[in-house]
Amino acid sequence: MDTENREHIHAVVVGSGFGGSVAAFRLAEAGRSVVVLERGRAYPPGSFPRTPAEMSRNFWDPKAGIYGMFDVLNFRKLQAVTGSGLGGGSLLYAGVLLRKDEKWFVDEEPLPGGGYEDWPVTRADLEKHYDAVEKMLAPTPMPFDRPGYSETPKTIAMRDAARRMGAEWSLPPLGITFSAKPGLPPEPGTRIAEVEYKNLHGAVRRSCRMCGECNIGCNDGAKNSLDHTYLSAAKAKGAEIRTSSEVVRIAPRARGGYEVDYLVHDPDAGPAAFKHSKQLSCDVLVLGAGTFGTVGLLLRNRANFPGLSRALGTRFSGNGDVLGFMLRATEGGPRTLAASQGPVITSSIRFPDGLDGVAGQRGGYVQDAGFPLFVDWLVEGSRVSKLGARAARFVGDALAGSLSLSRSPHSGARLSSLLGCGLLSDTSMPLLAMGRERPEGRLSLRRGELDLRWRHESSRDYFTLAGARMRAIAESDGAEYRDNPMGRGGRVVTVHPLGGAPMAVTEHAGVCDPHGQVFGFPGLYIADGSVMPGSVGPNPSLTIAALADRLCDRMLETSRPASGQARARAEKAPPRPSTTSGLRFREKMVGTYALGGTRSQAFTLRLSVEIPDLDAFLADPKHRADVSGWVDCSTLGGRQVVQGTLELLTRHATPVGARMYYRLNTVGRDGEPRVILGCKDVQRRSAWGLWRDTTRMWVRVYRGTLGTVDYVHTRHRTARVRVRVRDLPRMVRTFQAFGPRRSRTIRRFLGFFAAQLLGVARQVPNDPDPDSPAFRLVRINAPWRKRR
Ligand SMILES: Cc1cc2nc3c(=O)[nH]c(=O)nc-3n(C[C@H](O)[C@H](O)[C@H](O)COP(=O)(O)OP(=O)(O)OC[C@H]3O[C@@H](n4cnc5c(N)ncnc54)[C@H](O)[C@@H]3O)c2cc1C
Ligand code: SF4
Repeated sequence: MDTENREHIHAVVVGSGFGGSVAAFRLAEAGRSVVVLERGRAYPPGSFPRTPAEMSRNFWDPKAGIYGMFDVLNFRKLQAVTGSGLGGGSLLYAGVLLRKDEKWFVDEEPLPGGGYEDWPVTRADLEKHYDAVEKMLAPTPMPFDRPGYSETPKTIAMRDAARRMGAEWSLPPLGITFSAKPGLPPEPGTRIAEVEYKNLHGAVRRSCRMCGECNIGCNDGAKNSLDHTYLSAAKAKGAEIRTSSEVVRIAPRARGGYEVDYLVHDPDAGPAAFKHSKQLSCDVLVLGAGTFGTVGLLLRNRANFPGLSRALGTRFSGNGDVLGFMLRATEGGPRTLAASQGPVITSSIRFPDGLDGVAGQRGGYVQDAGFPLFVDWLVEGSRVSKLGARAARFVGDALAGSLSLSRSPHSGARLSSLLGCGLLSDTSMPLLAMGRERPEGRLSLRRGELDLRWRHESSRDYFTLAGARMRAIAESDGAEYRDNPMGRGGRVVTVHPLGGAPMAVTEHAGVCDPHGQVFGFPGLYIADGSVMPGSVGPNPSLTIAALADRLCDRMLETSRPASGQARARAEKAPPRPSTTSGLRFREKMVGTYALGGTRSQAFTLRLSVEIPDLDAFLADPKHRADVSGWVDCSTLGGRQVVQGTLELLTRHATPVGARMYYRLNTVGRDGEPRVILGCKDVQRRSAWGLWRDTTRMWVRVYRGTLGTVDYVHTRHRTARVRVRVRDLPRMVRTFQAFGPRRSRTIRRFLGFFAAQLLGVARQVPNDPDPDSPAFRLVRINAPWRKRR
């Protein structure tokens, strides 16, 4: 469709999970026009599938014509389960809403495969957003102190195991309603009072019946899932919600904002159904399609987003999920666990981390994971050998009855024997471990489909501990333990996929900034599990929602919607040319760094150079550009953010030739400011000499900040770095112009670069400015001169 004729909305939110729903509500509440596009359908209470025929079609696979709620993704070493429907993962989640542990927001923690896990936010940054989300989702622990709830066997088993092990046991807050109104005593199956914003389904909700079906959708509406809370509130504030709407294409618009193309599915029409395609445009685009949805959309549309961070796809983790089973619990005799009684998860045991002061440990949680009642039948049915013997006995008895060999006509005992006593299902229960897995997986595209490179080896210590913790819980309750029974061929099953579009301080390490805005694309935000730079540790939904709430604060502060009239004018008016054009590129320099007689250490600079206005840059005799990025050197304290300026082929500081000065601020290991000064001295006449001079740089590190540092008397350290030939093609690919006439901008910049080098090669004399501080600095510290 013609770009000008698209329906225009201020904000489009893709996906209605924990991030998308929060964003939709906050934007609608602030009076912005909002459309939510959700690929799945809506599930009012009572509509979640239960029959075998319905359950067999309750999966998401549009190519096969099925549009159900479970999206199961199989990768080589990992299988993931996520939700598809209005409310995203909240439709099938267990309701656990835990905050991420304060000390687990790690800062620059090195990873075995290279790079760092770095949370650019702290628990303190998130506290008020956790509060805001909790106000809406109303988490409360199962009322274990009340009669009827206090006898829940699996909760008692977990508490007893924790006591015996001396571990920290708790009843986690659950987004589930147990009573008719806050303050009233809990009562199963009672009608829940309506909230001031009306429920979008217009259906009656009833309090929790303790039926253990949370993971297949709560037909009572007792779970405070996002459709009953955030999305209902967003709709009441004017947000428009479009279900069965799958976004397939996104792209920036020439005059700002984004285009969004989506398919409208007809879930009842099967695979041959005609899918309508629709288009929208918007000022703000929020991607909340979940880890696989958002990363898949960005990877498939990468060509539309030149310069998108190379970190796309990185830092994937399954939040350390491991599924275990405790079987045949005994305590003198068989011990009932009744996994289907109560909400799916009722209790949690926390295991501390090295960061909590317990050396050598990677922290995590183990929770009881119940299952719906009908799974008991599957468990019993799975004991085929025993069932076969019982069935043979039943058929034999029936035959004897039909031949009148048996005297009694009653079949009750025979039928009872056929069904067995249900001991296995009654004394067994799943356990779910999660925790601080290292985020070293990478998502990419393979023949147009998502692919994952993930191995549990990089977190072997964590996974070994998680298995040992679950075994200890099982054995403490006198049960056998089975590891990962669902993962075939050693595959881990995760319900908490995270990462792939990590947030970070710079675009070298992440796809979006700590407020979820994608680097280089104003107005494009990511609000879902994909922004996590590492495992959350506990169940992640509350943290995903809190980060989305924080993102909205920043977005609402910085983006103002056009008024109705202004928008109408803008729509009619021809695109207004932006007045400035500029460009940006990235460069990586590697080398060594030595202090006095100490051993050399690796020293890497990863920098983003931005020229915001090319005209101003060319007119400036110092040709200044902005620089941001990282310096990576263990003596300086690992990886540190740098920010500063670059004078690019400035010619006034040297009689002939040209120089490139890098002036960068950073912070050392001791928390004190440092200044990194780098200089490329371009003097030689031959092509080879010019290549060497423009790619090699001497670097000095000083204490202090730019402007205050006394360059002459401060003790300094020296490094030598260079651009490697193999990094050059990558660097060239990062060149990105913006503003009007982009190819002309690139041509003008390259023309400037070539002219400066030509001047050097011909030894055209310069007109140095002896008063320039840069000139004085170069005369004082010129190690590159001594080498020549
Ligand atoms: C069985 C199970 C139990 C769980 N229990 C818990 C728990 O107790 N506590 C907890 O914290 N977490 C739990 N989780 C995990 C939790 O559900 C997820 O972490 C959470 O839902 C992720 O939120 P999100 O915003 O990243 O995305 P999601 O909630 O996954 O939402 C993404 C939405 O985007 C939609 N979408 C995807 N692609 C597109 C597209 N192209 N166009 C339009 N829409 C699209 C999807 O249909 C989906 O609705 C559980 C998960 C499972 C599977
Ligand atoms: S236990 Fe049953 S009633 Fe309670 S929240 Fe879960 S599915 Fe709903």
